[in-house]
Amino acid sequence: MSAERLTNRPAKHYIGGRFVVSRNGEYFEDISPSDNSVIARIPSGDSDDIDDAVASASKAFEGHGWRDVDAEDRGNVLNEIADAIDENAEELSVLEAIDTGIPVRQTRGQVARAAENFRFFADMATEISGQSFPFRGEFVNYTEKRPAGVAGLITPWNTPLMLETWKIAPCLAAGDTCVLKPAEWSPLTASRLAELIDGTSLPKGVFNLVHGFGETAGASLVSHPGVRLISFTGETVTGMEIMRNGASTLKRFSMELGGKSPAVVFEDADIERAVDAVIFGVYSLNGERCTANSRLLLQDSIYDDFVNAVAERIGNITIGDPLDEQTEIGPLIHPEHLKRVMGYIESGKEEGAVLLQGGRRPAGLREGNYLEPTLFTEVDNSMKIAREEIFGPVLVALRFSDEAEAISIANDTQYGLASYVWSRDIGRAHRVASALDAGLCWINSHNVRDLRTPFGGMKCSGIGREGGRYSFDFYMEEKTVHVSLGRHRIPRFGSSVRGGGAKTTGSSK
Ligand code: NAD
Repeated sequence: MSAERLTNRPAKHYIGGRFVVSRNGEYFEDISPSDNSVIARIPSGDSDDIDDAVASASKAFEGHGWRDVDAEDRGNVLNEIADAIDENAEELSVLEAIDTGIPVRQTRGQVARAAENFRFFADMATEISGQSFPFRGEFVNYTEKRPAGVAGLITPWNTPLMLETWKIAPCLAAGDTCVLKPAEWSPLTASRLAELIDGTSLPKGVFNLVHGFGETAGASLVSHPGVRLISFTGETVTGMEIMRNGASTLKRFSMELGGKSPAVVFEDADIERAVDAVIFGVYSLNGERCTANSRLLLQDSIYDDFVNAVAERIGNITIGDPLDEQTEIGPLIHPEHLKRVMGYIESGKEEGAVLLQGGRRPAGLREGNYLEPTLFTEVDNSMKIAREEIFGPVLVALRFSDEAEAISIANDTQYGLASYVWSRDIGRAHRVASALDAGLCWINSHNVRDLRTPFGGMKCSGIGREGGRYSFDFYMEEKTVHVSLGRHRIPRFGSSVRGGGAKTTGSSK
């Protein structure tokens, strides 16, 4: 599939079912991570375009709008979108690889997951239900869920299509309407998704897309009084800023933020499988993965053998053109991001960690944002490379002597997104999993998702959970209805005259 044909077309906002340019007529340039050449001009939206998009989403929600469409019919439309993604999967995979630098072998999996997100929530739509609470034999109280309104969806540049659909699908399944503001460094698959959605029977205005920068388009969406919900995925500091900006209109937030997730490997683990999983966990998606096991905690007795095995394997990883079927690691998203990651590599060296493997631009790749998979050993948890999220192909290895020390080092971080425990001792594996301060833990596995389970982080890694029915807790309002079954006692104010007191003269209606 020709890269030129895919990228060389005008990107537009999608508002009220129409493809439009920004009202201000401005554009920004989208560049290729492979050589930093300009691959597309993207309209740069601001508050005017957000106003238009929110007005269109509100109109599509209200009255006899999307909120009133039967859940099964909503699910059918979601399945149409999934079909459209599947039918165009190869094109979307190539486009995603061109725009993000993630190897096409991996973007294919992401695109398949994007379709799965829609199919999964299409089924979930018909399962939306409340609970009932029989009370003292006198009442049945029940809850009902209802759509909340217009949602603002703000997404990052890593795995854009997968993360966008992870929000759009439950939002539409719930009966909400939305405005998506994708990341400015990887906007192309969002544009293509809008074209695909336009070809389905989703009513116009239910899904809207506004491109632009965070400080303009994103900030306008967050502060807009017509938006009830903000589902955000991105950096922790951006999440904090968004919560401040949304406070004056009392937004409800779902925050999927950064991570510095530990993989804790005990000496009794299946070492071969642990090596495979640790390498995949931190170096796939070019290391730009929120749940990456970027801190490797190894028990003393296996430390040297384990880090040497990782170093040897990552020395053989194929780095190169994301469109090459053999490529395992592609270029990082943007020169600014490469610079930032290189800054961490310098900091690691300065703080005295041992750079066992990688850390340089690969030989023969002179253009683009390429970086060798990198491994630091003899890392102390107080070092910057152990404390801050690098979000690149950089693994730092720390030592521990026993279970208590492993837990203490693993939890000594501001983050709490994912965690991984490797041990054949079933009791210990569960004990450690339970003790780790993280929203997610995998025992003897890399990150394998079950879409029914709650996904989200503790501490500075996030607020709230999405996935399965937990997504509906965010995207829907829950109302409680109290039903009296009979003649429970109702206090009878004013029914007995005891004398002495003053009588009221008015009526309270
Ligand atoms: P980012 O925070 O820089 O940007 C994310 C989005 O927010 C972009 O669309 C950006 O334009 C927008 N934005 C920026 N400032 C804004 C503002 N003031 N108001 C409104 N919107 C604003 O994040 P990034 O660099 O694109 O993505 C990488 C980060 O995302 C990493 O920290 C990673 O861990 C995190 N992430 C988390 C998860 C998760 O599920 N927890 C998943 C993927 C990525």
